[in-house]
Amino acid sequence: DQEMALHGREVIHTLTAAGHEAYWVGGCVRDELLGRAIHDMDLTTSAEPEQVIALFPHVIPTGIQHGTVTVMQGGHAFEVTTFRTESGYADHRRPTEVAFVKDIREDLMRRDFTMNAIAMAEHGERVDPFGGEADLRAALVRCVGRAEERFEEDGLRMLRCIRFASVFRFRVAFNTWKGMIRRREGLRYIAMERVRVELEKMLAGPDPLRGLEMLGRSGLLGCTKVPVPWEQCEAQALKGIVQLQEELRWGLLLMSCRLTSVVADELLRAWTFSNAVRLRLVHLLEWETELIYSTSVIAGDSVTEESDIINDEALRRSWIRLLIRLGKDTASDWLDLYNTLPASFRGLPPWVEKHVAKTAEMASLWTKQAVVVRIKDLNITGNELVQAMNRPGGPWLGQMMEQLLQAVACGDIPNETETLLQEAKRVMSSE
Ligand code: ATP
Ligand code: MG
Repeated sequence: DQEMALHGREVIHTLTAAGHEAYWVGGCVRDELLGRAIHDMDLTTSAEPEQVIALFPHVIPTGIQHGTVTVMQGGHAFEVTTFRTESGYADHRRPTEVAFVKDIREDLMRRDFTMNAIAMAEHGERVDPFGGEADLRAALVRCVGRAEERFEEDGLRMLRCIRFASVFRFRVAFNTWKGMIRRREGLRYIAMERVRVELEKMLAGPDPLRGLEMLGRSGLLGCTKVPVPWEQCEAQALKGIVQLQEELRWGLLLMSCRLTSVVADELLRAWTFSNAVRLRLVHLLEWETELIYSTSVIAGDSVTEESDIINDEALRRSWIRLLIRLGKDTASDWLDLYNTLPASFRGLPPWVEKHVAKTAEMASLWTKQAVVVRIKDLNITGNELVQAMNRPGGPWLGQMMEQLLQAVACGDIPNETETLLQEAKRVMSSE
């Protein structure tokens, strides 16, 4: 970090020494003033892209038509953007025209919030025409200029506003909030991918409930291209959300809306999540549904105190069936989630609830005990079975392998080739 700052200073120094103006700007200045870690450094300069390119040996023309080039210095990448204005936001998203300007103030004017519109020169001198530092001290997110117009130009800014308020635990300035309510319909024009990225940053922060509450209160979530079924959310289920790993926070959110795995799958696709994340979350919801289903089957209509032991064993067996179907990672995800849920929200039947503390404990034990949960972990192959049984392959083979897996995973028989063959023969002859 220190090192990146030094190289950033070199870039600024080179530009200044050549007679241009150059500053740190945006998120890095804001984060520096807040005493937060800085992850990337954006620089802004009066020099035009060609002039920047001429001054440094390693420059990548990343967005040269918008005035942005990436300067490589000391192994770090710095985005250097020429002072510019933006105009013509016909589609509520992206400016259609940019123009280079000579005055840093004009550049700062196009930026979204006062705290993001502070420029810092080589020796720390600030250019802060909109009172960004004062707003940082007051913990306020405030638009540069008239909020309604700024949100109308670019609807994503509304989500950025709530994201910053949530992550920094700031409040939203009154006029900014009012402008957001008036312009919230404009969120419809924003690609879900960009919406998702903002929500991800918000959810990953230290106080996601703050952002979720603001999203609910402002009605913004209902205005996205793919509306989020926020109305169904049971807020009390989210109390323990910060204890969860970032991706699992989405799982809790989906679960708190009581979405089925099928509906969740569609939503996650529409929100442009990666396949890996989508499947992880869908499996999680499937686990929840299946577990509730199988426990209700076990419980039947009448459950008595005496049936506890039988129930525990039946529960263990359905747990292992789920392990085989959805994998151990899903089991540990589900347990993490279950542990944060308030008792009133846990969807398991009362006889399982009675053992709430015990259930999670036992379940993690069962997960550890069942070392064999995949067919390929069995100490026998389909070929070996075909030969030993002297029978051509067919549907029976897959069924047999699954039956053996179930028996081994439950601990009924050891995972030894000889035992597995005997068991297969026993099953076959009893049919
Ligand atoms: P993060 O910590 O997420 O990087 P950031 O403020 O640096 O926050 P970036 O997307 O990296 O966000 O943008 C850098 C700067 O560009 C912002 O600080 C802001 O000045 C300006 N900016 C970014 N997005 C917008 C926008 N939608 N409208 C106006 N200005 C924007
Ligand atoms: Mg940034």
